[in-house]
Amino acid sequence: MRRPNFRRARRTEKLPAAPPSVWLAASFAAMPKSKRTSLHPDLAEVLLTEAQIKRRVKSIAREIKAAYGDSEFTIISLINGAVLFTADLMREIDNPVRLDCIRVSSYGTKTKSIGTPQIIHSLTLDIKKRHVLLIDDILDTGKTLKLVSELILKLHPASLRTCVLLDKKARREVPIEADFVGFEIPDKFVVGYGLDFAERYRNLSGIGVLKPEKQTTAGWSAG
Ligand code: 5GP
Ligand code: MG
Repeated sequence: MRRPNFRRARRTEKLPAAPPSVWLAASFAAMPKSKRTSLHPDLAEVLLTEAQIKRRVKSIAREIKAAYGDSEFTIISLINGAVLFTADLMREIDNPVRLDCIRVSSYGTKTKSIGTPQIIHSLTLDIKKRHVLLIDDILDTGKTLKLVSELILKLHPASLRTCVLLDKKARREVPIEADFVGFEIPDKFVVGYGLDFAERYRNLSGIGVLKPEKQTTAGWSAG
């Protein structure tokens, strides 16, 4: 059975080596002027435009297809953050897929993970002997992916692979890597394309760095 990529440890199913898949998020300043559309005034910098994300989502889908062939698999999406990425990615995949979601405790109004994440809402589908693809928005300390991977493995899936849109390698505390990674990004707090600060900014079409002075809910009114 294939297990998650706890730094090359505990792999039991042999898979063809994946091509180097990580794309570095180019800085906004380095983009051609024509692409520098302003995403939101609260952003200090745009890391990824909608077009860049779209292109990469299509190519991750090809990598996933190469790994699974025509087999059916079950997507498990970590909500809310991975909702937009999951929705776009699964529409690029023509395999038979099932979808379930797990909700893990969020940062709330913080911008750094504190303590151990908690599972707030777990699976409803039976994943025993099923191929599972776990999808998250961003791999940061690694605690969330490790917690959820361990929960899934206890349910005896046929295999488990992991996929994240973003990877902040510099912040890793737990030795875990994802099988499919969209972009490696610097250690900055980002929002957009599903990623939030206190539930805001999820609906931005691209991803950017939130201005430090906007990393507070002071002055927000209930809406
Ligand atoms: P980890 O457990 O790997 O430290 O954190 C994973 C979770 O933290 C992600 O699913 C995401 O919800 C949140 N997270 C980590 N970095 C960022 C970030 O830069 N921006 C936002 N909005 N969420 C983040
Ligand atoms: Mg999350």
